[in-house]
Amino acid sequence: MAHIIDIHTHHAGPPKGGDPLGVAHAMRGQMVGKNMFSDFKGLPGIAYYELTNFQLQQENSHKAGIDYRLMSNPFSAEVLSEISKKPSIDVCKFCNDEIAETVGTAPKDTAGLGTVNPLEKGHIAEAERLLGPMKFKGLQIVTSWHGKFLDTEEAWPFWEYVQDKNVPIFLHPPRVPIGHEQQMDQYKLDELVGRPFDTAMSVARMILSGLFDRFPKLQICVAHMGGGLLPCMGRLDFGWRLGCEGMPERAAIKCKNIPSSYLRKNLHVDIMGVWAPHVAEAVEVFGPDHVMFGTDYGPVPVDPKAHVDIVKNLKISDADKEKIFWKNANAYFKLGMQ
Ligand SMILES: [Zn+2]
Repeated sequence: MAHIIDIHTHHAGPPKGGDPLGVAHAMRGQMVGKNMFSDFKGLPGIAYYELTNFQLQQENSHKAGIDYRLMSNPFSAEVLSEISKKPSIDVCKFCNDEIAETVGTAPKDTAGLGTVNPLEKGHIAEAERLLGPMKFKGLQIVTSWHGKFLDTEEAWPFWEYVQDKNVPIFLHPPRVPIGHEQQMDQYKLDELVGRPFDTAMSVARMILSGLFDRFPKLQICVAHMGGGLLPCMGRLDFGWRLGCEGMPERAAIKCKNIPSSYLRKNLHVDIMGVWAPHVAEAVEVFGPDHVMFGTDYGPVPVDPKAHVDIVKNLKISDADKEKIFWKNANAYFKLGMQ
C-alpha cells in the first residue's frame, strides 16, 4: 500500500501546567491576530498558530494524503536550556514529555522524535529513555547547540552510541543560528539564510573533521535538503584536493576521502525547501534511496500538498517517488509500515 510519511513536522504548546522551567518571562510574546510575535535575542519572529494546533495539522496533512507524521520540536530544548536555571537534561525531558503527550493523542498515525544535546554525556540516558520505554522513533538534534557544533570530541561518545545502536538521527537547525549577530535581525534572515547556513557549517564540519572516518557506519538525515550544503560541495571537494600543507594541525582538513564521497555513504535528506529545482538536485546528488518526504508543517504553514506536488512532478520513476514518499523513511526510522 502506498503511504506518505512526513518525517519533518513540529508541534509546540500551548503552555500548560504553570512554568516549571522558570522561562515564561523570557518567552512571552505578543499576539498578532491568531499568531504570536516574539523577539528572542533580538531576532523578531512570528510563531504561526498552526504550530500549536495539532488537530488542524492532522486535518490538513490528511487532506494532502499524508498518513503518518514524525513529530518533533527543534527549538524548545535548545532555547529553554539557555534561559532556565534547571539542568539541560531536565529541560530536554520536559520538552520530550510534551511531544509524547501530543503523539499519544494520535498513536496510529504519529510518532515522536526526541531531543537531546549530543555535547553532554549525560544525555545518552535520556536517549535510552526515549528510544526504549517512550517508544520514540529517533532523535532530532540541532546542528549547533548554543553556538557549538557537533564534530568536537565532546560529542564523540554520543556518535559512538548512535553508531552502535543504529539510532535514526534527524539533524535540524536551531532557533538562533550562528552568525545571527551579523544583521540577521531583518527580513527573517535568521530563518531564511541563517538556519541553512548553520546546517551547512555543521555538516561540512562533520565531513571535514573526519567524523565519518571515525564512525563510518553513522547515518544522519539532514533537514531542508542539507540546508546550504549542496552549493558548497564543489568547494569542499577542491579544498580537500588542494590539501592543507603548511597549515597548523588544528586547521587542516582531516577526512580521508573526498568530501562528496560521504554524501551517499552517511547522509540522507528531506525535501523541505519548497523549491523544486533543489529537490531534483538532492535526488540526483544523494540518490533516490537517501531522500525522504518532509514539510516543516506547523511553524511553516505552507499547504502540505505543495510539497506532495513537488515530489509528484519530479522527473523520476514512480518506484523512486514511492521511496521518497514513504519507503525510505519506513526503513530509516524502522516504522514497520506495510
Ligand atoms: Zn523544521
